[in-house]
This record gives sequence, structure tokens and C-alpha cells, in this order.
Amino acid sequence: MAKIYHPETLVLHAGYRADPATNAVAVPIYQTTSYQFASAEHASNLFALKELGNIYTRIMNPTTDVLEKRLAALEGGVAGLVVASGQAASALSIQNLAVTGDNIVSSTDLYGGTWNLFSNTLRQQGIEVRFVDPSDPENFRRATDDKTRAYYAETLPNPKLQVFPIREVAEIGRPLGIPLIVDNTAAPVLARPFDHGAAIIVYSTTKYIGGHGTSIGGAILDSGKFDWAANPGRQPLLNQPDPSYHGVVWVDAVKPLGPIAYILKARTTLLRDLGPAASPFNSFQTLQGLETLPLRIAQHSRNAQKVAEFLTGRGDIERVIYPGLQNGESRRRADTYLSGGYGGLVGFELKQGAEAGRKFIDALKLFYHVANIGDARSLAIHPASTTHSQLSAEEQFATGVSPGYVRLSVGIEHIDDILADLAQALDAAGG
Ligand code: PLP
Repeated sequence: MAKIYHPETLVLHAGYRADPATNAVAVPIYQTTSYQFASAEHASNLFALKELGNIYTRIMNPTTDVLEKRLAALEGGVAGLVVASGQAASALSIQNLAVTGDNIVSSTDLYGGTWNLFSNTLRQQGIEVRFVDPSDPENFRRATDDKTRAYYAETLPNPKLQVFPIREVAEIGRPLGIPLIVDNTAAPVLARPFDHGAAIIVYSTTKYIGGHGTSIGGAILDSGKFDWAANPGRQPLLNQPDPSYHGVVWVDAVKPLGPIAYILKARTTLLRDLGPAASPFNSFQTLQGLETLPLRIAQHSRNAQKVAEFLTGRGDIERVIYPGLQNGESRRRADTYLSGGYGGLVGFELKQGAEAGRKFIDALKLFYHVANIGDARSLAIHPASTTHSQLSAEEQFATGVSPGYVRLSVGIEHIDDILADLAQALDAAGG
């Protein structure tokens, strides 16, 4: 199906065609913890990975399975793992390859929560994260040594909103046996990281994929195109016997099943052991949102472009940050990696600084003031005092957060209503 249909069709059809038990057209919520085995032999085959099938909802679930298949098909990948949050997806995507003494190289341009995960929690677990400036892709090579297990970046990181050089960095890693993991949360449909050489995609489905703001969730998607066995010393966790699964060597075990070593290991070891499983109800909710994702992301992008142009025309604004308004190399990357729009996120800085930023936020009537992006409703936040407040001033600067910076996640309401709310709040802020 992935090869034939377009994204608009895949989000409605991939991975499911009527429930085999009831013929239900909507994907049922399989709200069950466990599954009866057909026989003793069936049970032992499932546990031995001779056959894939349902065992226990901490590890897999039929509702979640449809979401995994649908997301993988949408991205042109071979398999997916849906988990309880975007944070869990990011953490597992690294822990699946790196252990104490290993390192990964990551772009500095990250969501604040990922920054904390990388610079504190993973570090405390003995995994070093080396942060590099992505404006020069060669920085990834320079930070690499023989213990580097992965490269990590966000396609469209906020607040800088400078698109990441996916192909350039994937091409540095591939001959070294190092996969590029890309968080595509801010640009689903618009960016297709697998087409440019990324090995793994992670998502916070909480954002645009759900779109309704009801359900936290995350996903890890496997392109199936990265050769984990080409350089066995580089990826020991996939090429050496795994004591946590009766000595299985993952790249060998999956040979009859397809190129799913990475995702199968993540499911059967990390999800099994650490347990951040998605609830079937949240998977169902996320599927409802996913059905309209291509329509919504196009409208988010159209509205955001108009908001960025409107803000640029005001005298009280120091600068506006939006990929559709950038020039030079940033614009080249935006045009190379995004198509069909530049996304729904817009940043701007008021000339009058932090105090005006706070007044602006308090004066908004239509926009919600929340720590979220990608909702169908318009959202706004002042990152320095909220999402990025746990970072030092230096770290805030490195991730692009200045004191007066305001981030908008432009929704899909009528553009005139969005612009009217922004105008009145800017006026109230003293513009
Ligand atoms: N990645 C990005 C780019 C995000 O914006 C977020 C959340 O804001 C996350 C990951 C974490 O996702 P979640 O909140 O679903 O755990």
C-alpha cells in the first residue's frame, strides 16, 4: 500500500481493512491486557519470535498495531513502535543502540525536554550526548569517535525554526555505520526524512498527528533501509548476543521477518522492560486525528505564513522567525526538506523585550497559553519563563531562546480571527 497511495489516502486506509472479528470499519479499541494463546505450541512460538503475534498489551496491542502500521506507511518505512509519549520515543530510540560508555552526537537545536533528557538523564545512565551546531553538518563527523552509536536531530526545531540538513548528516553517518534519528514532530507530511537518508524517525504524536490535544503519545519508525550489520562493531547491541532475550543476535533473528532488527529489539527488550506502553484508547484517539493530518497541516502552514507576514509588517516587532521568510542557506534547507508548506510554528521577538512578551501573552483571547504545539487551536507561549526555564541562560541562547521571544503554534481557525487576536494583544502589549 505504501508504494501506491498518497499520504491523504494512507492516513485513512494503511494497516487496516475492517475488523476480522466483526467487520467494523472504524478501528476498534482493543481494551485488553492479554490474549489467549491458540495452543501451547503457539504460545512458545510467540515467545521464541518464531511467529509474531499478540502476547500482552505492554508489548503490543491490535489498536496500537494499526497506528504503528499507518505511521510507518505514511513515512515510507517498514515498521513502527508506538509508545506512551514523545519523550519515551526519544529515550528508547537512543537506549536501543547506546549503553554506558557510548555516546551519541546531537544537534543543539532541540525541544527543551529532549535537551534535559540528553544532558541529564541519559548522561546519568552513562550515555554521553555530544551537542553540535547543525549549521555545519561536518560538526557531526568531528564529534564522532568509535563509541558513537547514533546522530540525532529535529527536522524543524523550535524556537530557531531552521530546518536540519538531513541528507548531509545521514551521508556522514552511513559509511561509518551510524544511523541518523530524526524527530519529525513539527513537520509531519511536509518533511519525509526517510527519503533523505534518515534511518529512524521519532514523533511526539501528541502534537500534529493527534491534532486534537487529547492524548499524549509517541512513535519510533524504522525505515528498514539502514544496514545494521554492515559494521558490526559500531552497533554491538544489534550484532552481539543479547542476554536479555536468550542470547539472540537481533540482525540474525529478524532475517525471516524483514529488516526490522532495530524496532523488534526496541519492542521486545526496552518496551518489555521499561514499560512505557501506549494505552489502546490513546492509540484510537491518535488514529482519529491522523485521518485528517494532511488537510490540517496544509491549513496550519497557510495560516502561519500569513501570520508571519502580518507580524513582519508591524513596527513593534524586532524580528520574525518562520522558514517561509528565511533567506540564504536556511531557506535552501527549508525548500529542500519541506514541501507543501513551512509548518505551523512562528516565532517573534517584541522590540520592547520580555515584559512586553508577557503582556502580549496575557492579552490573548483566542490563542491558548499552553506548553504545547500542533493542536488544531492556536497556541502561544513565552519559552524563557516556561518550556526552556530549566536551561541555563547560556543553554537557552544555544537553543535560540532570547528573553523576549514568543512562540506561536498557529491553528486552523479562520485566518481573520487569528490575525485580529494577535493585533489586539500586540496593541495591549504597548505596540
Ligand atoms: N519532540 C518534540 C519536538 C516536542 O515538541 C515534544 C513535546 O513538546 C516532544 C518531543 C516530547 O513529546 P511528549 O510531550 O509527547 O512526551
